[in-house]
Amino acid sequence: MKNIIFIAAPAAGKGTASEALMEKYGYAHISTGDILRSMAKEDSELGRTLSDLLSKGELISDSIVYEAVEKRLSMPDLDNGYILDGFPRNIEQAIKYDDILKNIGRDLGIVIELKTPVDILKKRITGRRICKECGQTHNVLTNVNAPKVEGICNKCGGTLYQRGDDNEESFKTRYQTYLDKTLPIIDYYRKKGVLYTLESCDPNETLKEIEALINDYN
Ligand code: AMP
Repeated sequence: MKNIIFIAAPAAGKGTASEALMEKYGYAHISTGDILRSMAKEDSELGRTLSDLLSKGELISDSIVYEAVEKRLSMPDLDNGYILDGFPRNIEQAIKYDDILKNIGRDLGIVIELKTPVDILKKRITGRRICKECGQTHNVLTNVNAPKVEGICNKCGGTLYQRGDDNEESFKTRYQTYLDKTLPIIDYYRKKGVLYTLESCDPNETLKEIEALINDYN
């Protein structure tokens, strides 16, 4: 399978689409946000620094991200294709990723931009609740995936929690960072001829469009 890079603002649906593609096609899912959140739980100076930056919605330094990404890309589960969700996030990371690919002998694949209006993103972020047990995402502000019982996962009955950076203040920083730092990489990939932009706000429709791209390319 062709590798996929998702480029999208926070809560545009990268994680949801990635999960569906993992299940259906066996893609490996590499979320730098997930990796960094797990590093932030460590009882160390680095863990505490990461936790503070993540809760404010600020980007983590490139050198830490590169180390985490290179470590993940050296694991043996990538031969059926992998999805990069959250990396690269600025132009320096995009250039560095080209180097990494050369070193590990893998293809860039296709880059999919998910475009979503900011008011929808804000609602998804502030209403997002995640299951501690199975990771299923719910939303208390929309009809889609609303928990049937408050605080309880629809899928497994686990307890729901709110991510530390899923609040309005942090959303502002994360969205502005996306506009300032991440959007320029759209042009970088457009020039390489690998960019596809999808604009539906319906996760099922988005998934269908992604699957059509996958089928065209594999
Ligand atoms: P996400 O789960 O993709 O929304 O990412 C959550 C947070 O992790 C971001 O707000 C950043 O603080 C951090 N993060 C994730 N990926 C990167 C990256 N490639 N570079 C720098 N920081 C990142």
